Amino acid sequence: MLDQLVRFLRTRSRDRKLEHYAIADPLWQRTLAGLPFLHPYSAAELAALRELATLFIAEKEYSTAHDLVLTDEMVASVAVQACVPILRLGLDWYQGWHGIVLYPGEFIIRRTVEDEIGLVHGVVEEASGEAWSHGPVILSWEDAGMPGAGFAAPPDHHDDSYNVVIHEFAHKLDMLNGEADGVPPFSRALHVGLDRATWAASLHDQYERFADRCDAQPDEAWDEPDRLPAALRVIDPYGSESPGEFFAVASEAFFVEPAGLSLHWPTLYRLLAAFYRQDPAQR
Ligand SMILES: [Zn+2]
Repeated sequence: MLDQLVRFLRTRSRDRKLEHYAIADPLWQRTLAGLPFLHPYSAAELAALRELATLFIAEKEYSTAHDLVLTDEMVASVAVQACVPILRLGLDWYQGWHGIVLYPGEFIIRRTVEDEIGLVHGVVEEASGEAWSHGPVILSWEDAGMPGAGFAAPPDHHDDSYNVVIHEFAHKLDMLNGEADGVPPFSRALHVGLDRATWAASLHDQYERFADRCDAQPDEAWDEPDRLPAALRVIDPYGSESPGEFFAVASEAFFVEPAGLSLHWPTLYRLLAAFYRQDPAQR
């Protein structure tokens, strides 16, 4: 009886959110037009994505920095891109935090790093996105925004699959079980038959291969990305930084350039397909 009541109340709350935060048709069409990697999605998948993005908008709190005026386009575009990785996992995977902060462009991150001999240095760097464990996701709208909104792709990116929103939300999933180490948690119900230890070992092996191939490139190759082997153009070389960054940039490629990823990195593609429960190259 109590179960039924809880289920009834949940359904009613969900229906109300879907109604109150509905993404209007013109905004939905503009949002899709700006995200070409979604064009192969089936009508049923797009309907599920729209519903999930609506619930995401209802749950999350958007704010801006540096006088950036928050628009419906920003809210919808970030929500839709953020929901792509959880399309077959569910909104529960983004539980425990609320904030999304948009900056007009790249922003400054100050952090400390410890070097090999234990000295701690203050580091100041520019970033297009940052995800805090249990905290907000911070994004540069210039990078996260729709290509059709007048923003050019950042010139310093070599890969064909750049997507800062998917990158930061992949970190969010990875951080559900601690540090961003490239191994997200798995669900007993959703990831039946997936062995965590095997998955982790395989991902780390793929990371080592990728980092070795990046290291083997002559320095000048990075100045002319066209001369890089195709396998190194599909994944952002930033992935060689750590397994956590590798998981995030590989996730970008998985959703934005799935055919290229499955062609050049089939093992990595299969690992991500098993975790995300999607097969975007088949679309
Ligand atoms: Zn990252």
